[in-house]
Amino acid sequence: MQNESLFNFKKVKELITEAENICLITHFNPDGDAIGSSLGLYHILVDLGKKVNVVVPNEYPDYLQWLPSNTYVLRYSLQKDITKEKINSSDLIICLDFNELKRTGILFEVLETNKSKKILIDHHPYPQDIFEVQISDTSVSSTAELVYETVLNCGFEKNINLNAATCLFAGLLTDTVAFNVNCSNPRTFEIAAKLMSFGLNKEDIHRRLFDNFSANRMKLLGYVLSEKLTILPEYCTAYMWLTAEELEKFNFKMGDSEGFVNYSLSIKGIHFAALFMEREDHIKISFRSRGNIPTNKIISTHFSGGGHKNASGGEEFKLNMEETIKKFVSILPEYSDVLKSCN
Ligand code: 5GP
Ligand code: MN
Repeated sequence: MQNESLFNFKKVKELITEAENICLITHFNPDGDAIGSSLGLYHILVDLGKKVNVVVPNEYPDYLQWLPSNTYVLRYSLQKDITKEKINSSDLIICLDFNELKRTGILFEVLETNKSKKILIDHHPYPQDIFEVQISDTSVSSTAELVYETVLNCGFEKNINLNAATCLFAGLLTDTVAFNVNCSNPRTFEIAAKLMSFGLNKEDIHRRLFDNFSANRMKLLGYVLSEKLTILPEYCTAYMWLTAEELEKFNFKMGDSEGFVNYSLSIKGIHFAALFMEREDHIKISFRSRGNIPTNKIISTHFSGGGHKNASGGEEFKLNMEETIKKFVSILPEYSDVLKSCN
């Protein structure tokens, strides 16, 4: 974490202490950090005696459905009325793992008119200026890590239990891809060690998150790597794409393409990786990079999206797959210097 004095933890503690009904909200297409950090905080706030609801905009992959209290998570896409009621009757909303309300997608229609006090706990750049308190820090590995720091600084450490530790550890493990990226700061490992001291089973959590895929997913991975991987050595870049037809052929389920984009970065000399996936009415884009290549800047300048420097994503609604890829290849010369600088 950056300098702790930058953050108004006193206000966070005050808002949580005063609140009776608290809603925890994550971004659209929630990932392991979104679900892990919100369920982790859920267990801590319940231990503090609060009435808590975790609300997500839409459904998330099976490999996250084992986390303790997963069954209590409200999905707006499936339970609109009850979810809306819970949000609007809460006296405090804590937004986790996203930087602006629009990132909640379909849930935005509820949040834009909602008057509850709001706290942000997040590690993406450029937070929207609408929160009572922002605990926003791009230097941490994950929102889960920042939830731990927040809880510590509010004096709620004694309310962490094994369930909370398991969820926070899962968030941390997801965003660091099992301590592979985003964790150059020793503090991340100190927090991991603290969480482990609650008796969680690290191997089991790792297996449930990373070795819990369908056979179809493995076959799709084999297919995309052998048939679709395209390398542009002059730009230290590799990209892959999957059409709706190909996804259907492999009986694609939500979460099946998790981690695909990272494989290209394992190739010697490749520092920028992209994955394009055809969805019903848009192309889903994922970018990953090493070093100084600002994928979030590239995606927000040329497509629509954002995220972190080395991991970002977005959606292209106007162009089809062929046009999206053509545009992607055409912008690379603009970034030639930074793309080659990693060599
Ligand atoms: P992924 O490639 O795994 O879908 O997303 C990687 C990261 O990019 C996410 O953690 C999130 O920070 C960001 N991201 C993904 N999709 C979007 C999007 O549609 N809009 C914005 N602003 N960020 C996104
Ligand atoms: Mn995250």
